[in-house]
Amino acid sequence: MSGATPAERQRVEVLDATFLNSGVKRFVLRKPQGFTFTPGQGCMVAIDQEGWRDRERPFTFTSLPTARRLELIVKLYRDHHGVTAQLGSVGPGDHLLLGRPFGTIAYKGPGMFFAGGAGITPFLAILRQLHRDKALKGHTLVWSNRTAADVFLDAELGRMLHKHYLKTFTRENVIGFRDRRIDRDDLVGLVRDFTQHFYLCGPEAFVRDLKTMLLDLGATADSLVFEG
Ligand SMILES: Cc1cc2nc3c(=O)[nH]c(=O)nc-3n(C[C@H](O)[C@H](O)[C@H](O)COP(=O)(O)OP(=O)(O)OC[C@H]3O[C@@H](n4cnc5c(N)ncnc54)[C@H](O)[C@@H]3O)c2cc1C
Repeated sequence: MSGATPAERQRVEVLDATFLNSGVKRFVLRKPQGFTFTPGQGCMVAIDQEGWRDRERPFTFTSLPTARRLELIVKLYRDHHGVTAQLGSVGPGDHLLLGRPFGTIAYKGPGMFFAGGAGITPFLAILRQLHRDKALKGHTLVWSNRTAADVFLDAELGRMLHKHYLKTFTRENVIGFRDRRIDRDDLVGLVRDFTQHFYLCGPEAFVRDLKTMLLDLGATADSLVFEG
């Protein structure tokens, strides 16, 4: 699945691992020489520990391709007893096995980014690149989470996007924030121009519902960018 044979996988050292909130962990990895990817891409990742090397899962790089280190941000599903739960105890000095970069989410032009939960990761790389290129004007991020406690890197996103960074919560009453799923009326209010690009990433139902609503409101299939 990694697109790389076991021998071709790159073994990389974890240099730093910190929690961004109670369920999300950021890993900084030593970058293999010549390792390249485009913002929005990820790769299959396995933990280089006995019993875990064959259990590969896809994750997205959140660092810039030009950065000295690789960064991954991972939502941990502790009750699955799978790879992300195990990543909870992976720290500096441990190693991960990375497959070849892949992914269909890539920057195509100005537009709106709709992220559900950990679906923010491909957009982090793209937004950080646009910010670095001083080209963020004309882009909006709408990030849906269950509760305010699920948000991470809030300050950075606020600094980059200012009023074009919108948060919505599906399971919490927070004064000053909208509190429900993004619906058709929200989109009518939020989207001024249906000819721009729409970048979608998150749980399957989130992406499917947004796709349906945006197409219904006049977006074209070409303007939608999502993993699939
Ligand atoms: C292209 C791509 C890029 C991704 N990038 C990122 C990223 O950058 N960061 C990130 O955090 N995630 C990312 N993901 C999601 C990530 O791959 C999954 O969260 C991860 O594979 C889960 O692995 P696991 O072994 O912990 O869970 P698994 O056990 O593999 O669970 C996987 C899925 O099975 C179901 N499931 C299994 N057990 C249970 C249970 N007990 N209760 C309910 N449902 C269950 C759920 O649908 C769950 O999502 C990405 C996914 C794709 C496809």
